[in-house]
Amino acid sequence: MPFNLLKYGLSSEYPVEVDLPAPKELKSSYDVVIIGGGGHGLATAYYLSRYHGITNIAVLEKGYLGGGNTARNTAVIRSNYLTSEGVKFYAESVRMFEGLSNEFDFNIMYSHRGQLTLAHTDATVRSFRQRAEVNKHFGGRTEMIDRQQIRELVPSLNLDPGHIPVLAGLWHMDGATARHDAVAWGYAKQAAKRGVEIHQLTEVQELVIENGTITAVKTNRGTIKCGCAVQAVAGMSSQLMKKAGIRSPIQTFPLQAMVTQPFKPFLDPLVSSSALHCYVQQTSRGEVVFGGGSDPYPLFNTRSTLDLKESLLAHAVEMFPFLANAKLMRQWAGITDMTPDYSPIMGLSPVKNYYLDAGWGTWGFKATPICGKTMAELVASGGKTPDLIKPFGLERFSTFQQVNEMGATAASH
Ligand SMILES: Cc1cc2nc3c(=O)[nH]c(=O)nc-3n(C[C@H](O)[C@H](O)[C@H](O)COP(=O)(O)OP(=O)(O)OC[C@H]3O[C@@H](n4cnc5c(N)ncnc54)[C@H](O)[C@@H]3O)c2cc1C
Repeated sequence: MPFNLLKYGLSSEYPVEVDLPAPKELKSSYDVVIIGGGGHGLATAYYLSRYHGITNIAVLEKGYLGGGNTARNTAVIRSNYLTSEGVKFYAESVRMFEGLSNEFDFNIMYSHRGQLTLAHTDATVRSFRQRAEVNKHFGGRTEMIDRQQIRELVPSLNLDPGHIPVLAGLWHMDGATARHDAVAWGYAKQAAKRGVEIHQLTEVQELVIENGTITAVKTNRGTIKCGCAVQAVAGMSSQLMKKAGIRSPIQTFPLQAMVTQPFKPFLDPLVSSSALHCYVQQTSRGEVVFGGGSDPYPLFNTRSTLDLKESLLAHAVEMFPFLANAKLMRQWAGITDMTPDYSPIMGLSPVKNYYLDAGWGTWGFKATPICGKTMAELVASGGKTPDLIKPFGLERFSTFQQVNEMGATAASH
C-alpha cells in the first residue's frame, strides 16, 4: 500500500477539502428558514448569503440534499418557451447556467447541445413558428428547420415514424444539460462556506402562523423561530401550502424517466417529440436517457411502472430504431406539482413573510439559478417582487392572468 494512502487513512486530519461542514445543533431562531434542500432552496440560500449579506439562514431538508426532483430530473436546460414572460425568465437562467461552474469554482458539467423539437402536424408547425419568433424577439437562438436540416443534425433519427412523419423542427441552439446533483452541491458548498446552515433529515411538519404572519416552523427536531420562511419543496408544495392555510391550484403527478447501457456517441442534440410523448438524449457517459409526460393520474409516489416503460420505449424506438436492442439499466420517478398553466408560482403568499417557490412541475431544473437569485431578492427586500417573477405570482389564478406554457412544456420539460 502506498505510504501516503496509509498515512491519510490513519490521520485524523484527512487533507481532502470537505464539501459541507459537519451537522450542527439547530439554533432556536434564524432570520430566514428555507424549507427544502433541493436546487431551488439551496440556490436561494446561496444568493442571499453571497449577494445580500444575509447568513443567519437554515435550509431544512427532510431527506438528503438534492434527493427530491433535483437529482431525479433529466437535466434539460432551454428557454424556447411560448410566452414573453416565460422566455425572458428562462433565458436569464440559461445565461446564468453558462457561468455557474466559474461562479462555484466547481464543475457542474454544463454541456451545450442544442435542442430539437419535432413537428408532425401542420398545427404544430404553425405554433413552432410563433415560438421561434417570440424567442428571437427576446434574444434566444431558435429557428425553424426543414427535414433535410434535421437529417444533417441527427443522422440516426427516423424521420418517418409509422403514422406521423416529421414535417419540420424547432431548433433551439441554446439547449443544454448540466449535472443536476453537482448544481445542488455547488450551491450547498458555497452557501455553507458563507455561514448558511444546512440541516438534512430535518422535516418541517407544521407552520406556526400568528396574526397572519409566519413566526416559526415545527420540525422533527423541535420548533425554530424565523423572521421569514421560503417553501421550496417541489412535489410537496400543495401539502405545505395546505398547512399554511393557502389554497393552491396545484395537482401532483409522478414523472418517470429511464436510462440505457452506454453507446458510442451518436446523438449530440436533445431531441423531443410531443406527438410521440417522448424525448431522447445521450449523456456524456454514452447512456441514452428517455423521458415523456407525467403519469395520467395524481399521486404522491415515486414508483415506476411497466405501462410507462412499454409506451415510452415503443415511441423511442420509432424515433431511433437501432435502440430496439438497447438494454435498459435504470427507471425512476419524481413527484411533480403541476399548475393549470404549466408555469411556476413564485413570490408572496397570503401569509406575511412566507414566500412561495412552487408549481415547478416537470420544468424547474432549468430555472434553478434565476429562481434562486430572484427569490433571494424578494426575501432580502422584505417582499418587493422582482419584475422578472411578477407574472408568476399565486394571485394570477384569481385574476385570470395565467402564463400559459402548456404547448411549450409538453414532453420536452
Ligand atoms: C423524471 C423527471 C424529469 C425531469 N426533467 C426535467 C428537465 O429535463 N428539465 C427541467 O428543467 N426540469 C425537469 N424536471 C423537473 C425538476 O426536476 C424540478 O422542477 C426541480 O428539480 C425542482 O427543484 P426544487 O429544488 O424545487 O425541488 P426538489 O429537488 O424536489 O427539492 C425539494 C426538497 O424539499 C424536500 N422537502 C419536501 N417536503 C419537506 C418538508 N416538509 N420539510 C423539509 N424538506 C422537505 C424534499 O425532500 C426535496 O429534497 C424533471 C422532474 C422529474 C421528476
